[in-house]
Amino acid sequence: MILMNNFQAEPAELIQQEVAAVEKVIKSGWYILGNQVSNFESAWASHCRVNYAIGVGNGMDAIEIGLRALKIGSGDEVITTPMTAFATVLAIIRAGAIPVLADIEPATALLDPASVERCLSSRTRAVLLVHLYGQVRNMDSWITLCNHAGIQLLEDCAQSHLAFWKNKVAGAFGAWGAYSFYPTKNLGTLGDGGAIITNSEALANQAKILRNYGQSQRYHHSELGLNSRLDEMHAAILTARLGWFDFFSARRKEIAKAYFDGIKNPLVHLMAEPVESKCHVYHLFVILCDKRDRLSNYLVEHGVDNLIHYPIPVHHQVPCRSIRRDPKGLIHAEVHATRCLSIPCHPQMSDDEVNKVIEAINEFK
Ligand SMILES: *Cc1c(COP(=O)(O)O)cnc(C)c1O
Repeated sequence: MILMNNFQAEPAELIQQEVAAVEKVIKSGWYILGNQVSNFESAWASHCRVNYAIGVGNGMDAIEIGLRALKIGSGDEVITTPMTAFATVLAIIRAGAIPVLADIEPATALLDPASVERCLSSRTRAVLLVHLYGQVRNMDSWITLCNHAGIQLLEDCAQSHLAFWKNKVAGAFGAWGAYSFYPTKNLGTLGDGGAIITNSEALANQAKILRNYGQSQRYHHSELGLNSRLDEMHAAILTARLGWFDFFSARRKEIAKAYFDGIKNPLVHLMAEPVESKCHVYHLFVILCDKRDRLSNYLVEHGVDNLIHYPIPVHHQVPCRSIRRDPKGLIHAEVHATRCLSIPCHPQMSDDEVNKVIEAINEFK
């Protein structure tokens, strides 16, 4: 089976570096909030070309802490997309704020600005963009829209590690960006991890307080915070894996290019190509098909694993059915959920495997 992810096929040299990193932490005798975390935070901030990165427990907490650091909570509305990981919306609710769902554009599955405009109200405090599948697009228009509306621009970057729009990295356009280092993400650890990136010293300080029980100095609690710290072990592993990031990212782009060039089947549609290659890091390669479920089963029968991101839009999840949404509805998200299919696109794939995926898709009838 050609897998969606194949960690066991990772280079022996990388595994050795991870084992050495873990051994170093074990021998250091220091496991929470130490040098490994601050070293990784500096390295990640510099890769993202921002002033601060704050390591936290996971990507969902990064969003919650980011919202709370901005004092976005009770009574405040945050507009986002229903075509995302559940964590995006759950984090807004956990922060005490009210999610409002806008529709997506069919060609990219990213938020549609016209729909976002229809969702604005006097209580709107922010738009939380999700750079779905690895794509960053139209950031200039989003900045303009948010400035006109007088609201914050926030970014869920869990799928868009080091994707660029012009000279800025995903997460650097508004108040903050929230990253996840879940194992399958483009930069992932061997467990849970996350980070908030920001250029604001005040926000960075607030996030550091919130991740550690709201503690401003030892035993002094200025806020009711969380326990959501990136730990030394995962920070050390992330530092090792960061050294491989460019190599892995380039491979994802090569695979995506092969798919764009090679997939030719009238029953299968490709999503919009990025404006420039640096604007898409291909966390997922997604194809569209009206016979999606049949295609999915057919691919498994032909040795090609696949997944759906996402089969159920957030507003159809049981606890989310009454969330306020675009008065015109969320039809594009609903249609996308029935047509989208993610095919293998991970750095350990061989050319032979990539060709087999293309062949299988092209022979689907
Ligand atoms: C993975 C993901 C998250 C959540 O990250 P965790 O680290 O699993 O909490 C949030 N948003 C999106 C878009 C994701 O893909």
